[in-house]
Amino acid sequence: MFNNLSDKLDKAFHVLKGHGSITEVNVAETLKEVRRALLDADVNFKIAKDFTVRVKDKALGQNVLTTLQPGQLMVKIVKDELTELMGGDAEGINLSGNPSVILMSGLQGSGKTTFSGKLANYLKTKKSKKPLLVACDVYRPAAIDQLHVVGDQIGVEVFSDRGNTDPVAISKAGIAHAKANGYNVVIIDTAGRLAVDEVMMSEISNIHKAIQPQETLFVVDSMTGQDAVNTAKAFNDVLNFDGVILTKLDGDTRGGAAISIKSVVNKPIKFIGTGEKMEAIDVFYPSRMADRILGMGDVVSLVERAQEQFDEEEARKLQKKIAKNQFGFDDFLKQIQQIKKMGNMKDLMGMIPGAGKMLKNIDIDDDAFKGIEAIIHSMTPKERSNPSVINASRKQRIGKGSGTSVQAVNQLLKQFDQMSKMMKTMQGGGGKKMMQMMKG
Ligand code: GDP
Repeated sequence: MFNNLSDKLDKAFHVLKGHGSITEVNVAETLKEVRRALLDADVNFKIAKDFTVRVKDKALGQNVLTTLQPGQLMVKIVKDELTELMGGDAEGINLSGNPSVILMSGLQGSGKTTFSGKLANYLKTKKSKKPLLVACDVYRPAAIDQLHVVGDQIGVEVFSDRGNTDPVAISKAGIAHAKANGYNVVIIDTAGRLAVDEVMMSEISNIHKAIQPQETLFVVDSMTGQDAVNTAKAFNDVLNFDGVILTKLDGDTRGGAAISIKSVVNKPIKFIGTGEKMEAIDVFYPSRMADRILGMGDVVSLVERAQEQFDEEEARKLQKKIAKNQFGFDDFLKQIQQIKKMGNMKDLMGMIPGAGKMLKNIDIDDDAFKGIEAIIHSMTPKERSNPSVINASRKQRIGKGSGTSVQAVNQLLKQFDQMSKMMKTMQGGGGKKMMQMMKG
């Protein structure tokens, strides 16, 4: 996420970080680089210019020239300003109605349908809501099918009325269906077009007027940069929407949309989409995003994701197994599955401070554990609980069966053995000893 921008900002601060004493020229040079980095990230020209003016005023106001660590102070000022630019505090969505109605708007391909599913899943699993999805794209039968597929995937009902060409009537019928059947949130997925056009705008505006939703969300593809900002403006003029959803932040996004959109439409970014899977949704926190842009990682989100997947009961069982020296490949597989649920590997690594920079040119497979899982699946249950019974011919079979190689099997067995030994040491009160060893 935002690798290019992070990189350029890092270089911009380089001058200040290296100097014992700095001059106004150094500061000006740094700010010029910051502005260039923002423009390259497709941030609107005026926003980038105002941004650097504000940073400069603050920097001079806080005597950046005489401070001991000018680089750090500048990074902090830039971070605070970036946070402010992206919206200050995080803002939730309004779920006050019964049912609360959420209207989704945006262009075709922005990720509206996918996000409708993600949001329904989020509200169901994290907020204990009972959501209903309503399919209002009357032009593309495939769009209705797609919402049904999504609904099946997450176990949420989808209301649709094939053949009905009036989206206002469908959305009203959907809300009535929700009321009659005890759904407390209704998410209405509407039709988009490839570009802003009048018919689409008047259609969504009619739906908006007719159903008066508690929350109108505008979905936009973050890869589209300045275009995203212009589209947001067009939709906001008609709908006066409540919040923005930025999708596809998992791609090689330049960052312009995330940074500019708030100041152009004065509406907060509420959620981000970080992948095609239903779990790839995150609440948008401006300050955490600023940290990530500045290459400081996002440990808070990383810990939160780990906590979400953490199952205390399972952890206790696992501890017992380790104590009894019964930790096997089946347990290992479970651990891998928990990690995978936390999200895409590269995304997770990017949350570790400093790691994003190191990893930017490394291609991390989305399914980094594929080979390991295949090897474990090729073992017999007995081999999984007691890998020492695996002999040379079985290693060959497992290598073949998993589509990997004997070397890969050997490597996994060796790593597993080392891990088991380490667990034993930690368990047997050797934790202290290990700490001492690590300290050297
Ligand atoms: P709609 O036309 O606005 O309903 O857009 P869709 O929901 O059909 O999404 C268009 C494409 O973008 C699909 O292939 C989705 O899988 C993909 N997509 C949606 N959200 C994300 C995201 O956050 N990350 C990535 N990588 N792809 C996404």
